[in-house]
Amino acid sequence: RILLTTVLDQHRENIKGIAITVQDITREVELNEAKSQFISNVSHELRTPLFNIKTHIETLHDYGEELTESERREFLETANHETDRLARLVNDVLDLSRLESCRIYHFDSVDLAQAIEQTLRTYQLNAKDKGIELIQELAPNLPPVLGNYDLLLQVFTNLVGNALKFTREGGKVAIRAYALDEGHAHNLASKVRIEVSDTGIGIDPEDQHAIFERFFRVENRVHTLEGTGLGLSIVRNIIDKHHSAVHLVSEVGVGTTFWFDLAVFVEQSVTIDTPLIET
Ligand code: ADP
Repeated sequence: RILLTTVLDQHRENIKGIAITVQDITREVELNEAKSQFISNVSHELRTPLFNIKTHIETLHDYGEELTESERREFLETANHETDRLARLVNDVLDLSRLESCRIYHFDSVDLAQAIEQTLRTYQLNAKDKGIELIQELAPNLPPVLGNYDLLLQVFTNLVGNALKFTREGGKVAIRAYALDEGHAHNLASKVRIEVSDTGIGIDPEDQHAIFERFFRVENRVHTLEGTGLGLSIVRNIIDKHHSAVHLVSEVGVGTTFWFDLAVFVEQSVTIDTPLIET
């Protein structure tokens, strides 16, 4: 963008010159394009379950009496299922847009063990039903990290949820956390690494970058497994807010590990220069 501004003299009477300002607005244009793309994707994604709900209810309404009891139940179940899908979509879209609207989040000391245990508790039954072993490996004396508890809980929930979704019966899903000793003075760890791994279907190297894009879902599984394609965008956004990045290692047919580092929480301590003298 080029802006031309006339420069007046101090009496604001004569033109002294013209100032030319050149602004690089590539980022602005890109953001706007991404936003319209997102809106168009959201509308498209919302339309499918809405259409399904409407046609099933309409059929029940218009031809309900001609259908058998089991057909009626099946129609109702589909409508119900699609309503759940719609609700999941709306929730994920709201979460993502809240995260992107630059809201200030309160960062504090987070007990990772508590957040991880809470996550695994919610998935215990699901894992048991699917015959998947849920493993928790937390290093002893794990230091607290600097973060937002609710946001980190959502990261664990999304990653463990995906791991369970893409792992077959008899597989394993593990969540690990350990301090990284980066050779810091006094051996104090500055970061904690968190890994969520599974022995699931894996992700093709070609798709590994795209899975973090909104609404991206690996082909062929779109209709067989529940999901919105927004879970990993939410994860990436939250980890971004924690000034870190999500990485993954994956092999098709072997499994996937998502990992990221979080900064250790350091208490603001007051240094006392003068030795305390007991009186
Ligand atoms: P979804 O709601 O579809 O799970 P996500 O954004 O969480 O959306 O994930 C995007 C896609 O990445 C998934 O649809 C799936 O194809 C792939 N994916 C995510 N996690 C895993 C995993 N642990 N194993 C294999 N594929 C995965």
